[in-house]
Amino acid sequence: MKIFIDFDGTLIDSRTRIYGLFKKISGTNLTFDQYWELKRNQVSNSDILIKYCDYTDVKLQKFNDEWFPLIEHDDWLIFDEPLPGITDFLKKLSYDNTLILVTARQRIDKVFDQIVRFGWQDLFQDILVTQQEKEKEALISSKYDCLSTDYIIGDSGKDILAGKALGLKTIAVLSGSRNKLQLSKYNPDFIVDSIVDFNF
Ligand SMILES: [Mg+2]
Repeated sequence: MKIFIDFDGTLIDSRTRIYGLFKKISGTNLTFDQYWELKRNQVSNSDILIKYCDYTDVKLQKFNDEWFPLIEHDDWLIFDEPLPGITDFLKKLSYDNTLILVTARQRIDKVFDQIVRFGWQDLFQDILVTQQEKEKEALISSKYDCLSTDYIIGDSGKDILAGKALGLKTIAVLSGSRNKLQLSKYNPDFIVDSIVDFNF
């Protein structure tokens, strides 16, 4: 079967990069844990900045102008690491299944750089990057016929909604950007702490 797998928060821990850049640009006093508690409750960067950092619309625009070029810059991507047990799990899963990485990153070249750094270059049949120009659902359906026996795995509500629209089985993981309460709202077929906890 085909398994479409999200990248950030599902296979890798991007939290240090994301919090680090947020803190550097905003100068926030929020700790790593406070920031991620808010994010896992689906509070956006913009809402955090307005509520906790007294941001105005002008300052928000300036924040975003700095954020988007830097969030996928090598200086920050270096902080990303595979989640525990993921490499062995992917190796086993790739023997019998077709693994396709699907990510909403902006930069294809930087995704490939990281895949090579983690030694995962032989594990995926394909790597789909939306480049934030289209939705995952549209990108997947433009290249693949999806079957009801295929899966999508992700840490966000968007991942689950994309999977449902494509008729896939949906697995939500709690290893990333959302907590159980938030992900339950999207009615995934399964919710697990980490992808490594799921028996296919
Ligand atoms: Mg993700």
